[in-house]
Formats: sequence, structure tokens, C-alpha cells
Amino acid sequence: MRDGGPGAYVHVPFCAHRCTYCSFTALEGLNGEAAYFDAVVEEIRSRRSEIVTPLDTIYFGGGTPSYVEPGRLKAVRDVLEESFGLVADAEVTAEGNPDDLDDERLGALQALGVNRLSIGVQSLADAELTPLERRHDADAARRAVSRAVLRFGNVSADLMIGIPGQTRESLRSSVDGLLGSGIGHLSVYLLEIEKAPKLVALRREQPDLFADDDEMATRWEDVDALASASGLPRYEVSNWARPGFESRHNSKYWDGSPVLGFGVAAHSFDGRTRRANSGAMLEYARLVREKGSAFVSEAALPPGAAQRERVLLGLRLSAGVAEGAYEAARASLGRIDRERLDDREAAGLLMRSGGRVRLTREGTLLSNEVFSLLL
Ligand code: SF4
Repeated sequence: MRDGGPGAYVHVPFCAHRCTYCSFTALEGLNGEAAYFDAVVEEIRSRRSEIVTPLDTIYFGGGTPSYVEPGRLKAVRDVLEESFGLVADAEVTAEGNPDDLDDERLGALQALGVNRLSIGVQSLADAELTPLERRHDADAARRAVSRAVLRFGNVSADLMIGIPGQTRESLRSSVDGLLGSGIGHLSVYLLEIEKAPKLVALRREQPDLFADDDEMATRWEDVDALASASGLPRYEVSNWARPGFESRHNSKYWDGSPVLGFGVAAHSFDGRTRRANSGAMLEYARLVREKGSAFVSEAALPPGAAQRERVLLGLRLSAGVAEGAYEAARASLGRIDRERLDDREAAGLLMRSGGRVRLTREGTLLSNEVFSLLL
């Protein structure tokens, strides 16, 4: 992965329907869409002095960026370029849902400068999409991914492990289907049901539909084996890519590069300080109107904690972290946590080679046991 300049994240908090498992800042429908994008444009303009080097990436996340009128995204992209500059080969990603991605919408996204699509597929089995209340069925997802690959080349798809009713075989079939469609990037997340009341109720009624931790780990290993065998090695705990197709934008979060976040609930990091925008639509718009920015929290980590956070994020990557950085973070821990970390290494969760420290395969599956010590 290359070292780039800063990135910009733009939150698009609109969705046609709320999925059962959603924990993002997202509203159903397009109410207030025009006023929201006006506020985002104003926020960008008023923060134009925050960085001096041109943007290396733009990421439209959500919510569902593909659901809004593409002209809205174009206005934001234009004001980002006008305010900060944009490198010539900038990566411009938009997240999209399969049922929005007809040829016309794909063309409009391409015309406004999007050159990478991240499609929320979640599963290629209809019976698994139903409890998630996704809008699309498996066929629509297959067609959307194929159309996007044809037009963009650089396409990522998301899948989930642990969907009610999913089996080892059905997940393998979803992975195979996507890998066979020509995607260059795959993200696979564990479904978190604790914050999804409908799924918690379903688990109470039909516990057999849900996988236990061991089964989830087996499925993750299946994904890893299938993706690697198809030429998409894993480069982060939840991400696989054909070499050269790693997400430049998301890599900024893992390597500690600056990212400016715009829009409701967006987060910014300038290399030292983390700032969070208001997560409430009305408050966000009011703060932008009154002050030009919408920060409601700001925290500069003390040096030891910043070092540890950097190492924690770096350990998510298959490339791991430089041994010197790891040692400095380790030395900043109190005695008890340092001994616990050494125990994890002795237990085989971490390995050292070539001057770097990495999570082992087992360490990746049990990464929270390492990360919790570095927090
Ligand atoms: S599409 Fe994504 S952001 Fe929108 S409701 Fe579903 S999970 Fe939430």
C-alpha cells in the first residue's frame, strides 16, 4: 500500500429502509436531503484551512450514498476539490446498495468522479437477506455487482458472518459467487445482534438459526481460504484484496493518516487529535450554521496512549507493525498489562519476524484479547 495524503469522509445518512441490524446514523427516506447537503457543503468550505496538502481519497459512506440524487454527491465532491485540492489519481469511493445500482445510476456516479464502489451485499442467499430486511434479493445483488465490475473495475463487496439461518455451505457459496464476479476487494464482518432487538427476539425463539463463536471462527477461516485461493489475500482482519486493490481510504484509519470527516456523526483525525461531529441531524445543521463546524467532542491522546492506539490499529493489518513501535507501545503499559501482553505473545497470538510484529492466525481470531490490553 502506498503512503498518501489526507482523506475525506462524507457521511450520507439516508436509506430507503432501515435494516434490522443497523447501528449507523441513518434515516429512512430523503426528508431534509437538500438542507443536509447544503450544511455539508458549508461545513467543508468553512474548514478549508484544516489541511494544506491535497486530498488523496474521498469516501462517501452511509447510510446509502447510492440512494441520494447523484448531483448532491457531485456538489460535495466539487467543493472538496475546490477547498482542499485533489491528487490526480485520487481514490473516490461511494458505498451503494444493489437495488440502486442500475446502469443509469452507475453512469451518474462514474460521471461525478467515483472510481471505486463498495456494495453492501451481505449474502447471496435470499433466506438470509430476509431477516436482515435488506431491500434487494440475491439475484439483484449478483446483477448489480456484475454491472459495477464491468463499468468500474474497482469494486468491493461486503458480506456478513453469523446471519440467522446461514450455514457454512451457504456462506461459502456467497463468497464463491462474489469472487467469481470479478470483484477486487471483499470485506466480511461479523453480524452483531446485541443492538438489534428484532434479531435478539429471533434468537430467543429460534436459537438454532444462530452460530456459536467456534462456528463463526470456522466460517471466517473458510472466507480467508477461499479469498486467498482466488488471488485476494487478506490485508486486514476483515478485508481481502487483489494486490493493488486495497482500500486506500480505509488504510488511512489503520496507519494513522489524517482523515477529515464531514456530515452528521462523522469523525476527524489530524494525526494527533480526534474530533467527532454531532450525531443528531438538527444539531449538526445548527452547529454548522452557527460556527461553521459541528464538533461536539475533541480528544488529543497523551503520547503513550497515542502510541498504543497506532500499534493496535497497525496490528489489524497483515503487515503488522515495526518491532520498535510495538516495543515502545509495550513499554508504555503498566506492569500487569505488559505481562499479560507478553503472555499473549508466548501463547502464540503474536509473532515477530523480519523486524515486524504481527497477529498470528489464532491471534487474528482472538484479536480482542490483544487489543483490549492496548486500549
Ligand atoms: S443500508 Fe446500511 S446504513 Fe442503511 S439501514 Fe441498512 S445497514 Fe443501516
